[in-house]
Amino acid sequence: MYERYYDNAATTPLDPRVLEAMLPYLRDGFGNANSLHEPGRRAHEAVEEARQQVANLVSAEDPSQITFTSGATESNNWILNSVKTAAISPFEHSSLYEPAKKLGLNILHNDGLNITPESGIIDLVSVMAVNNEVGAKWVAPILRGNAVALHSDITQAVGKIPIDLDGIDFASFSAHKFYGPKGVGALYSRASTPEAFILGGEQEMGYRGGTLNVPGIVGMGAAAEIAADELQANLEMATKLRSQVLEALIQCKDVRVNGGDNGSPYILSLSFLGIEGETLVIEMDRRGYSISSGAACSSRSTEPSHVLKALGLGPEWLRGAIRISFGRCNNCDNARNMAKALLESVEMVRKMH
Ligand code: PMP
Repeated sequence: MYERYYDNAATTPLDPRVLEAMLPYLRDGFGNANSLHEPGRRAHEAVEEARQQVANLVSAEDPSQITFTSGATESNNWILNSVKTAAISPFEHSSLYEPAKKLGLNILHNDGLNITPESGIIDLVSVMAVNNEVGAKWVAPILRGNAVALHSDITQAVGKIPIDLDGIDFASFSAHKFYGPKGVGALYSRASTPEAFILGGEQEMGYRGGTLNVPGIVGMGAAAEIAADELQANLEMATKLRSQVLEALIQCKDVRVNGGDNGSPYILSLSFLGIEGETLVIEMDRRGYSISSGAACSSRSTEPSHVLKALGLGPEWLRGAIRISFGRCNNCDNARNMAKALLESVEMVRKMH
């Protein structure tokens, strides 16, 4: 199932094993994890088990370093709102980019994929592990500069490629990128959790108000355990699929790969000259394949992506950008057919112009 789905960077399907783990907490395990009675204690225990599973996935030293949130968007907004002076890389997801602009924070300079570290002493620098649009990777600690703390958005890396949080103070991620449910994620804090951003009750040690999403958190924990167990096999498969599609593209003229060769094998960003990316997405959809023209969060916007612009792509390449993102449900046979459909679609759309 879902073998024709190539938009795994936007979201992944819920793993049936994760659904099984969640179901009891959608039925009789409905207790409020902060209640003192038995149903409450049962929910609390499930949440703490999930916290341990998530901590294991990112190799956190202690489960208390994990605070559950509604997802990476919230975690990213939280961290930026917890500091006065910060700089972010020009490639960040809109959930860092937009608040950074609103808060008047600095956007670091870049030359292609090379980011220039901040020279001044500031509270925080934020550099993502893997870019969601092009798959480029950065080693965040190298870019820390003189910042007091370093944050990394690891949403596209966690559960997919090995993660090293050494030298990183804060990290954001979401469960639905590794076959968990949507609307649940976490902020990892190495030494001290930032002051609460969402104020409310005493949940999450007072760091994040709001009744805990117990089924979601249980699902995130189950997904984390599976992702850790299967990481290597999935990584090898994604690497194979990506190179297979790239090989098929040799036959295609006027195409470029965005984001360099050393990125995450899960993401392949391409630009075709003389084509609108959206038209290609629609043609591929007609053929039963789900790909995207960029980040799902901005796929309805007509503005060119700030990430591709930061990479220095000219308007002719910006227009024709698409993203193929691989996942557990894809296989070699299907990827071969998908690449063939892509080449045919490109030819067809180009003829229409
Ligand atoms: N950061 C990155 C790198 C992402 O890819 C995404 C999801 N597109 C997010 C943050 C936001 O995640 P969510 O929508 O689950 O909050």
